[in-house]
Order: sequence, then C-alpha cells, then structure tokens
Amino acid sequence: MSEAGFPIPANERERLNVLADYNIMDSLPEQAYNDFAKLASAICGTPIALITLLDEQRQWFKANIGLGVSETPRSQAFCAHAIMNPDEVMTVEDARADERFVSNPLVTGDPGIRFYAGAPLVAPTGEALGTICVIDRQPRTLTETQREALEILSREIIVQLELRRSIETLEQAVLDQEKYVELLQEYQRDIEKVRVHLESQSVTDVLTGVKNRRSFDITLEEECMRAQSRGNTVSLVMIDVDHFKAFNDDFGHPAGDEVLRGVAHLLQSELRVSDSLFRYGGEEFAVVLPETTCKGAFVLGERFRRAIQRAPWPKRPISISIGVAAAGGDVSTPSELLQAADRALYQAKQSGRNRVVMASDDA
Ligand code: GH3
Ligand code: MG
Ligand code: MG
Repeated sequence: MSEAGFPIPANERERLNVLADYNIMDSLPEQAYNDFAKLASAICGTPIALITLLDEQRQWFKANIGLGVSETPRSQAFCAHAIMNPDEVMTVEDARADERFVSNPLVTGDPGIRFYAGAPLVAPTGEALGTICVIDRQPRTLTETQREALEILSREIIVQLELRRSIETLEQAVLDQEKYVELLQEYQRDIEKVRVHLESQSVTDVLTGVKNRRSFDITLEEECMRAQSRGNTVSLVMIDVDHFKAFNDDFGHPAGDEVLRGVAHLLQSELRVSDSLFRYGGEEFAVVLPETTCKGAFVLGERFRRAIQRAPWPKRPISISIGVAAAGGDVSTPSELLQAADRALYQAKQSGRNRVVMASDDA
C-alpha cells in the first residue's frame, strides 16, 4: 500500500498515459457501455454493476447501474486493488471479512458493499485501466460461468474503447484535412493576389518581350512633360502590321504570334538606345523618340518599314504602315500627340499601306 492509501501498479506512468490516450475520462454516457454494465448485472444477479476507470486520484464510472455517484476517491476503490492483477477477476465475497476493506467508507456506510467482483480492463499493451465490476449489499459468491462472463465483457469493453479511439482519430484526420484544404486555398488566393499585383506593376509585354501599354502611357506622359518644360520636342511613331487579320486567318494564331515577335525584334534592332519600343496593343507598336523632330521620326519610320519588308518571312511577306507626329503647335498633350500619329497612320493605310506618313501639321 502506498502513502496515497491505495496500491499503485509498477507500470502506473504508462497506465495513465494509455488511459489518457483513449480520451474517455469524463466523457458523456454511451449506450454500448451502459449495455455492458447491464449485462454484467443481469448475468451476475447483482443490483450494482460498474465500468470504472482509474486515473491518478479517482475512479470514474463510464457506466453505472445501481449506484448514485459518478466517481469515488481512488483510495476507496475496490478496483484500485483489482487492477494490481490484470489477469485475474478479483473477488471479495464479504468485505467485512477482508482487512483491506473492512473500514472502507463504502463498506461501513453507503452503499454498504459486501460483495465485489471485478475483471480488469486490460489495454492491448498490458496496462489495466479499470474494471467491469459487480457489487452486492450482501455476501455471496460468483459461479465459474459468471466469472468467465465478466472476463469476456472486460475484453469486449476494450474492443469498444479501441473502436471509439479509431473513430475519434478518423474524425480528427478529416478535420485536419479540411483545415489543410482551407489553408491551401488561402495560399492560392494569396498567390493570385500577388500575381495580379505583379501583373499590374509589370512593364513588359509577355508575347514580344518589349515594353507594354502601361509602360507606354507612363513614358509618353513623362516625355511630353519633359519636352514642354525644356522647350524642345518629342516624336511618336505608331506602327501597324498590314492585313494581319488575313494572315491569322490563313496561317493561324500561333504563326501570327511568331510574326509579332519577329516584328518586335526587327524594330528593336533599328532603335537608338535612347528610344523605347512598346507594344501598343494587338498588332500595333509605338516608339517614343525624345528630342526628335517629326522628320527624324519619319527617317526612323522608313528604316522600320524597309527592315520589315526585306526580312525573310517564312509564310509570306509582311509589311507595316506607320504614322509619325511630333509635339509642337497645337499638339502638346500625350493624347493630342497620339491622335496626330493615329491620323497619320490612318492616312498611310488609306493611301495603300506599307508606307510612312507624317502628321499633316508637320508635313
Ligand atoms: P490593316 O492592314 O487595316 O491593319 O488590317 P488588319 O487585318 O491588320 O487589321 P485589323 O484591325 O482588322 O486586324 C488586326 C488583327 O490582329 C486581328 C487580330 O486577330 C490580330 N491580332 C491582334 N492581337 C494579336 C495577337 O496577339 N496575336 C495574333 N496572332 N494576332 C493578333
Ligand atoms: Mg490595328
Ligand atoms: Mg493591322
């Protein structure tokens, strides 16, 4: 007997760990366990049957037939003695004749225990967690069959505990999985946000590798302002591939994309370092030329036109039409410059394509 007033098994620490692992203490009543207790009571013919589990300081009843309390101190528990021999059904035929229990309050007072028989509940790893026990208020004995029945019930209760734990583990796994899926979706949303942000910040056209429309708008604005503040000029060259819809229709979109990449490459190779080439949209490109007159822009436009015309295109010859305009006179804002270059480009198309036209103001 320990100082605590009850015997302590040698494997007490593991025993408590295993018990905690079943997550059963203080759980709500469950039909299966109540049924086992009822069976024990019926088979043994006792008014009281319990499924008890012993933690550090108390015995707690998972099922309780005929007793008005839900737990007792471990020091008063008959089961505390029963678990000392996991392989045996402990039988106390008359508690008043047993020195271990003669002064036990459960014997001297309520419920007045005289007879006790308990089959330890032994985990697969060998720890006795509690018992299934039957109790009577008068001395008696247990038949061999009744004793065996208690043993069988004790094994079935362990099976039930194992099952219960498996279900809990599965339920937890499902919850965990749901949590992971949610987390993953959150990451994907974050990544999408970053992607959208990066895209909005990007200055490069994905197809051709030259600067994009967003970058064009910023540069044109800056260069127009700079030209105005310095009192010099800025030119704009607008370039449009001729009959490109027909090319796509005849050779397919991927072949069209190849042409756009080729056009961008050739235009780029004709540029001075201070000039920037942009994909304005679709099959249209633009070049902003700081400190360059309309004439200068026209000369560059001609170089562009010839480079495209002379290139050895794999499917069929490609040509471009070009409109150029310069800031000055009525033209000073980015949109005025853009309109002027667009009008010139329109004239280039109207007058037969594959040519460069200067905006009429400067022509
Ligand atoms: P025009 O000589 O008058 O400019 O005739 P066009 O056919 O070139 O002009 P239109 O504006 O009618 O057609 C432009 C075509 O450019 C239509 C569209 O399918 C094609 N296009 C626009 N963007 C892309 C692209 O990124 N890839 C490809 N392959 N084609 C594109
Ligand atoms: Mg076009
Ligand atoms: Mg076109």
